Amino acid sequence: MKLCMDLHTHTISSGHAYSTLQENIAAARAMGLDILGMSDHGPGIPGGPDSIYFRNFKCIPRSYGDLRLLCGVEANIMDYEGRLDLENSVLEKVDYVIASMHTLCVPPGTMAENTAASVRAMQNPLVRILGHPDDSRYPLDREEIVLAAKEERVAIEINNSSLHPKSARKGGRENILELLELCARHRVYVLLGTDSHISYTIGHFEESLELLSEVDFPEELVLNTRPDNLNWILGERL
Ligand SMILES: [Zn+2]
Ligand SMILES: [Zn+2]
Repeated sequence: MKLCMDLHTHTISSGHAYSTLQENIAAARAMGLDILGMSDHGPGIPGGPDSIYFRNFKCIPRSYGDLRLLCGVEANIMDYEGRLDLENSVLEKVDYVIASMHTLCVPPGTMAENTAASVRAMQNPLVRILGHPDDSRYPLDREEIVLAAKEERVAIEINNSSLHPKSARKGGRENILELLELCARHRVYVLLGTDSHISYTIGHFEESLELLSEVDFPEELVLNTRPDNLNWILGERL
């Protein structure tokens, strides 16, 4: 399976990542990607950029040779109401929004609380991708999550970093297998993301692809396979 886009990558602006945008662009081009998405954390995470960072994306060129750049955000879910750390007035100015739960922003709650937080975040029409719903520290009703993603037309992220042996997230492999099984059964789109915090991992989806082939996941549900699928992710904002 050839993948053409990586929409989950961080730069030094996130405060705990180690490459510049320019280095990430060079890595994406070397990997032969068609589309790179920059998705720095919102300001809720310590060391994250202030909202002005996201309001100034207009100064960034969006094309580099054959590579198209998107400037988005990984917004932090801040509570069990699914509130994000940036106002919609800012989120509507960026190219796309991933919403994710991080322990530095919202403590793990009960399964009902974590699931409600994720579903409510997806009900925000600006949220297009649910980031790493694969963390055992946040018990989730994954079937409810997948069905809500279908209802809200949100992509479920398959996060390659969650499969790293040193990932802070726990249970990545089992939880991703469960997500894949549910997404295949309910015909819900997935988007593979590397969640790169350094340029060297951009476009490297090997661990995720292994799991996809292990469960024989339907290729037509993988949004990364065609540049055109950006239409589905961005809708009329393309
Ligand atoms: Zn994250
Ligand atoms: Zn991330």
